[in-house]
Amino acid sequence: MSNKNDDFDKIEIDKKNSSSGGDDDKKFEQVCYLCRRPESKAGKMIHIPNQICICADCMQKTFDALNKGDNPYFQIMGFSPNMINLSFMQNDIPKAQKVKKPEADEAGAEIAFDRSKIPAPHIIKAKLDEYIIGQEHAKKVISVAVYNHYKRIGAGADHDVEIEKSNMLMIGPTGSGKTYLVKTLAKLLNVPLAIADATSLTEAGYIGDDVESVISKLLAAAGNDVKKAQRGIVFIDEIDKIAKKRNTTSRDVSGESVQQGLLKLLEGADVEVPVGASSKNAMVPLVTVNTRDILFICGGAFPELEKIIKARLTRQSSIGFRAELKDKYDNDPNILQKVNNEDLREFGMIPEFLGRLPIVFTLEGLTKEMLIKVLYEPKNAIIKQYQKLLALDEVELIFAPEAMEAIADKAMAKNTGARALRAILEEIMLDIMYEIPKDDNIGKVIITKEYVEGKGVPIIEMRGIHNHKLLMAGE
Ligand code: ADP
Repeated sequence: MSNKNDDFDKIEIDKKNSSSGGDDDKKFEQVCYLCRRPESKAGKMIHIPNQICICADCMQKTFDALNKGDNPYFQIMGFSPNMINLSFMQNDIPKAQKVKKPEADEAGAEIAFDRSKIPAPHIIKAKLDEYIIGQEHAKKVISVAVYNHYKRIGAGADHDVEIEKSNMLMIGPTGSGKTYLVKTLAKLLNVPLAIADATSLTEAGYIGDDVESVISKLLAAAGNDVKKAQRGIVFIDEIDKIAKKRNTTSRDVSGESVQQGLLKLLEGADVEVPVGASSKNAMVPLVTVNTRDILFICGGAFPELEKIIKARLTRQSSIGFRAELKDKYDNDPNILQKVNNEDLREFGMIPEFLGRLPIVFTLEGLTKEMLIKVLYEPKNAIIKQYQKLLALDEVELIFAPEAMEAIADKAMAKNTGARALRAILEEIMLDIMYEIPKDDNIGKVIITKEYVEGKGVPIIEMRGIHNHKLLMAGE
């Protein structure tokens, strides 16, 4: 027993010896290692290893300096302020960069792509008819292609006959409804849609967006749901701008190289894309998207293509028994419809690229009659939109037929198809939208041809005074 007590005493003694300073230390105030202020002034100390104490103020200042990046030591060492940003520990990833779990929303996606639920081509076309004026051929082709595309996805890959992808190339003048057609289609089918501009694309490593950025956009449109994105539609506009440059000695980073880059996307490949950003960098998460089931639609105006087609047709028809007049195709309005791969190749598209766009179709330039219809016929026609706006103020808006004709004439002169209509209408409607709410008694506004042409005023009818026309300027 005595032995045990001895041991105990020994331990006690050892303890005393080991604590530097022992009880004496408790009599002294602790001092901040950085600012040298004592505990009584600086407040409670924070203890860090090696028996160092730092006051709360200094600790805070240190963190602030690191975060601001103005600490000279860290700058010399090449630290960037973001490297010491500990916010990632709080799981504060911006929503745009969060990737949806594969199982999330799966039920919804399955229903949208159930094979029995894909609408038949004639139903798709009928729906498109409600929004798009004219373009009968284009609507038909696109309806069939889309139907086949989603049927192919439904059939799955393990079939004896593998059905090829039906990527499309759409050729049509500006303002003929290319983008509108694709947008309407994606809305009807309830699939994500990414619209990209080929002019902003460049070969990887050069200033501009990589071709993979189009898949990034699609992923964003699908709410970062990879599964949904893999069945979406990508529309690449201005595709004619990436034609091979002629007579160039420098590297064609925004033309032929972009076509080359797009090949693997069109064909179907696994691509790693950044989530919530258009370029890859260390701070952005990456996901793999397979493009096998993504429908690619390319569109462009292809100026001067008509000349190429005309030259080919004239060349062919001026030889042999059926030789025809040289100027036979000069006034042919449907010349663009006669396009073939040979013409497109001459325009500057590479054969491999064209090979991956098996469906080529054209849209016609809008005629005056079509423009008039665009004004009032589609489900969300511009005139209908203004009528609705004024109806909220209980004012009836009427466009005289001659007024619509005058608007179409003005639009035709601008040569930008239906695009010009909105701008023209906005200009016409500005005064009306400004003046009408001033007077509660106004019940009806009739837009006249004279008003559109800037030579007169619209007809305003007061509430309760039927068939009595007053002019806006007052009679
Ligand atoms: P682009 O062919 O240059 O892509 P858009 O599709 O962007 O032309 O057309 C611009 C606008 O003109 C559309 O938003 C749409 O409102 C209208 N538009 C163009 N073509 C038609 C059409 N055929 N039917 C109805 N609206 C059209």
